[in-house]
Amino acid sequence: MVKMAGRAQEEIEKELAKEYTVLTYADYEAGIKEGKLLGLQCASCDKITCHPMPVCQWCGSRTLERTELSGEGELETFTVIRVPSEGFEDDTPYIPCLVKTKEGPSVVGRLDYDTERATQDLLGKRVKMGGAYTYKGDKFSGGPRTCPVFGVIE
Ligand SMILES: [Zn+2]
Repeated sequence: MVKMAGRAQEEIEKELAKEYTVLTYADYEAGIKEGKLLGLQCASCDKITCHPMPVCQWCGSRTLERTELSGEGELETFTVIRVPSEGFEDDTPYIPCLVKTKEGPSVVGRLDYDTERATQDLLGKRVKMGGAYTYKGDKFSGGPRTCPVFGVIE
């Protein structure tokens, strides 16, 4: 058994798994499929954590409750993928993006936009979650994953 700072690794992992039951990654993906962007509300600092984590991303508190975000925010950054990594051949071209939500945390997703017309002028545009996309994934992602799809609000 591997010891870390006097505690069994197994014990630490079990503890972390318990914290994750507030909102697991599977819950997060299921929410996206129902059109909901789920996160965690911190009882200590009142801020929102997203994607799901065992602790508040702002203050480290473990006192978290499940909450629903608006799905709105602004486009923080993006890129157009024309040469796919292995496993993403069917998706190209596509636009992975990072959205700074109205509630604070930044969320990874796809941008629903014409890849031929996407320029840096899109940065800072208001976006809203409009659906879900499930990708097959590759040998590194351990199976299919679902992410939010954001559309630009004109
Ligand atoms: Zn907090």
